[in-house]
Amino acid sequence: MFKKIIAVSALIAAILLVVVSFSTLQDTDSIRGETLEDLVQITNSPDSPVQIDIDGNHINVEVSVNISGDGADKDSRWKSNGAQNMFASIFMGAAPTYRELVLGGITAWSGDYIVFGKIVFVNVVVVESDDPNAFPVIVMEGFGTAKYTPETVTEDWVPGTGRATFYTCGDPNAPSLGTDAAKGAPTDAFIYVVSHEFGHAFGLGDAYEPVYDNDGDRVETVPYSDANGLPIKSIMSGAVGAVTDRDVEMFVAAYSTGDWQSFQSEPLLFGE
Ligand SMILES: [Zn+2]
Repeated sequence: MFKKIIAVSALIAAILLVVVSFSTLQDTDSIRGETLEDLVQITNSPDSPVQIDIDGNHINVEVSVNISGDGADKDSRWKSNGAQNMFASIFMGAAPTYRELVLGGITAWSGDYIVFGKIVFVNVVVVESDDPNAFPVIVMEGFGTAKYTPETVTEDWVPGTGRATFYTCGDPNAPSLGTDAAKGAPTDAFIYVVSHEFGHAFGLGDAYEPVYDNDGDRVETVPYSDANGLPIKSIMSGAVGAVTDRDVEMFVAAYSTGDWQSFQSEPLLFGE
């Protein structure tokens, strides 16, 4: 019995030590002005479906979406191909619906990143809602090109506005989208496209150039190059199938300044 009490006391002491060291660390950080929260101010519009809270080096994002369309509750053509499929472990080999893939593609912005020199943790929570302010997401059955509208992200972009449209089968003229379920494309391609279109909703422009053939059909996309002539690594470029540090920097910059972010310039944290 006595041994048990000692063990419990030791455990409590250990927990207290961890809590005390952790809060000391946080205090030191804020005194030095070293967290993202000290650098960036984000004022959420109360009507916006995207609500952002920066707490130290944590970015908590809540996205409220209204998912509709005749393809939303259809089962995707799940093709489990092991390691290539980043969501294989989540869906356990069962076919997710397109609605689940939409939720997965937005949540895929979660993770740890280096943002303006800080190690930052992004936690995206997606809530389905019928609220008129919820972000509209339409999943149509059939062929089409996924898009965020207004079609082009421009100076007119307003944080938290727009809508996203997806198709259960990709545009056959745009093979790089890879959402052609009829060809057995893995559903992580659909998730990738969702993450990309939400990049537009988060204020990011495209980071690729479309290449057209003589008939005016888009045959491929070429990522923009960075200062070293290498393809820009971004969910917006097609060069990588994941959200990158730079994408999160641009998202933070877009929502703190209210200005959309172009890959042809450095992220503008404080606007112009
Ligand atoms: Zn795009």
